[in-house]
Amino acid sequence: MKFYDACVIEFKKIAFSIQDLSDFDINKIKIINGDNTIAILGYTMANNRLEAVLQFNINIKEECYLTYESIRIKAIYTDIFNTIEFNQLYYHDGPLGTLYSKDYTIFKLWSPAAKSVKVFLYMSPEPYEGEKAIEHAMKEIDGVWYLLLRENLKNMYYTFQIEIYNKINEAVDPYAKAIGVNGQRGCIIDLIETNPQGFQNDVSPSIKNFTDTIIYETSIRDISVHPDSGVVNKGKYLGLCEENTTSSKGISTALNHIKELGITHIQLMPFFDFSYESVDEKNPENYNWGYNPQNYNVPEGSFSTNPYEPTCRIFELKKLIQTMHNNGLCVNMDVVYNHYAGDENNNFEKIFPGYYFRLNNDGTFVKGSGCENDTASEHSMVRKFILDSVLYWANEYHIDGFRFDLMGLHDINTINLIRENLNKLEGNKMLYGEGWNLKTKLPEEMKATIVNAYKLPHIGHFNDVIRDTVKGNVFYSKDTGFVSGKPYLENQIRKCVTGCINYNTDGLFQTADQSVNYVSAHDNNTLWDKLEISNDTASFDELKSMQKLANSIVLTCQGIPFICSGEEFCRTKHRIENSYKSPDFINRLDWERKLQFLDVFNYYKGMIKLRKEHPAFRMNSANYIGSHIEFIYNTPENVVAFILKDYANGDSWKDILVLYNANKYAVKINVPYGTWNQVTDKNISGTDIIRTITDFQLDASDLSISVYYKL
Ligand code: CA
Repeated sequence: MKFYDACVIEFKKIAFSIQDLSDFDINKIKIINGDNTIAILGYTMANNRLEAVLQFNINIKEECYLTYESIRIKAIYTDIFNTIEFNQLYYHDGPLGTLYSKDYTIFKLWSPAAKSVKVFLYMSPEPYEGEKAIEHAMKEIDGVWYLLLRENLKNMYYTFQIEIYNKINEAVDPYAKAIGVNGQRGCIIDLIETNPQGFQNDVSPSIKNFTDTIIYETSIRDISVHPDSGVVNKGKYLGLCEENTTSSKGISTALNHIKELGITHIQLMPFFDFSYESVDEKNPENYNWGYNPQNYNVPEGSFSTNPYEPTCRIFELKKLIQTMHNNGLCVNMDVVYNHYAGDENNNFEKIFPGYYFRLNNDGTFVKGSGCENDTASEHSMVRKFILDSVLYWANEYHIDGFRFDLMGLHDINTINLIRENLNKLEGNKMLYGEGWNLKTKLPEEMKATIVNAYKLPHIGHFNDVIRDTVKGNVFYSKDTGFVSGKPYLENQIRKCVTGCINYNTDGLFQTADQSVNYVSAHDNNTLWDKLEISNDTASFDELKSMQKLANSIVLTCQGIPFICSGEEFCRTKHRIENSYKSPDFINRLDWERKLQFLDVFNYYKGMIKLRKEHPAFRMNSANYIGSHIEFIYNTPENVVAFILKDYANGDSWKDILVLYNANKYAVKINVPYGTWNQVTDKNISGTDIIRTITDFQLDASDLSISVYYKL
């Protein structure tokens, strides 16, 4: 007799699968729930799966086992968490965590499975020998544990001690707003005191449509850590608050550089508190991107000038955001709610084992992220946690947008709920992510993936079609794309020009604001490394031309352009594809290199200016785009030509003609006869007229974009 699994699917129902039913006897089954044995009243059977109806409700404060003679297997509770019954009993809509005032502090923790919970108060951020916590018992109402303490607890550290399933666990409050060094204890602070001067009046630059934005991805550390960045607070939040910085050669760096480039949104790689195992806040020598969340609602300490002072990181991050806003830039946050480090030894598992993560039927964790335990966003209190966290960052820190890491691991309802709630806030907050379809325990139709984009209105997806069409597949380093010599990609590029929207075609998206157009991000080889690796015979100048053309395509396609920092000066990571823990030497932005590739930088800058000044590149609805883009066919191979026509999207230019020539030779292209003003050629980009030609034929230089307009 072999049992595959046992799952409690309702309070009075348990399901299990058996390998061989030939000599199975239902009377030998015992359901043991704590000290009780619950009788089976009846059962149904389909194939080898049985569903048994029980005499009494299962008590989730006790573990449940199924026994059969000498066999004993644990029944998992995952399925019951999705039932209406469970949510009616235990879903809690109110705030959780701590509420501080000078006169009292309220503590709230959700754990319907706990038998008892205590608040532990400490003076120290970390344990030391002989230390004793001040203990206070909490009281439970419907799964929520409460405590009110009438004293001023400012600067006290705290944890929760949870008695659950015959274990005593100590956990950090997942709702903690402040923590001690390395995030091992929560800290009670007065948040008002963390606001820089004027922060309450801080206003984000206004954004009309998401397609008006240009996202620039960088890391707080990479952008300023280079020895010649001219930044004082290298690798810190405050480093991005320093204005007018230059290298020793007079090149603008860090914030000064970003402003000069002209993008609208800076997307910062993880700056929530990531695990102390990846970066020790006391000695942040190790580099790590930070995709291993520890405390979701607190900034990372290694980017602060004093990780020992719990308010410092909060103040300094707010200062960064305020500085960005003052400089006309918005700040998007890279959030990683899809997985959480540490198997069983993590805060969520300690508080309510089995609730926060997807479990396989055998009780092991699902790890579709390829990192650690996949969170179960479909469980109502996990969904609430993610929503609460996003809204907290938006409201408390004035974050302008959220980039969801592995968004495809989340369920559609959660992502749409976040979009709806962000819509209620002031300003146009962005929401986009990686809609990759990974293997996790969620039905295909529920995943927030690209194929389900039609169910996720106005939520952006990283567009891997444009990424791989322009420069080659990221998973095959030798693979080439349109700009690097692969033929027959004209039609694919034409799709990308429209933002891969669904009009008369098998598009991916309903509106252009769903398409985040990019050719490289922090993952995989940098654009420059990829072009080099896949083009053995190309000359240095040809590689530079490909680099320029690649993002010129991104910046002239409909959708939301996304640039990985350093692409604008041919950033190299020395061919290291996954640099998540490579040293600064690999990851940092090298300002010497900016000087070396200043022509590429200036070219990108001109393309950004062109896009920002011309709304024709920023349409949104599928029908509108369909009727305002006209492709010119009968062009030479490896050429794509199109006209954004009839003052598209209120443009001041009647017709804008764009030519991509991916050939290593110049071509002539037949165009509608007229007087064409050229504003972008192989060497110069922008909006100023370079030359005016009255003809029905136009030249397109080798490996270049040309942009003309007609009044
Ligand atoms: Ca940390």
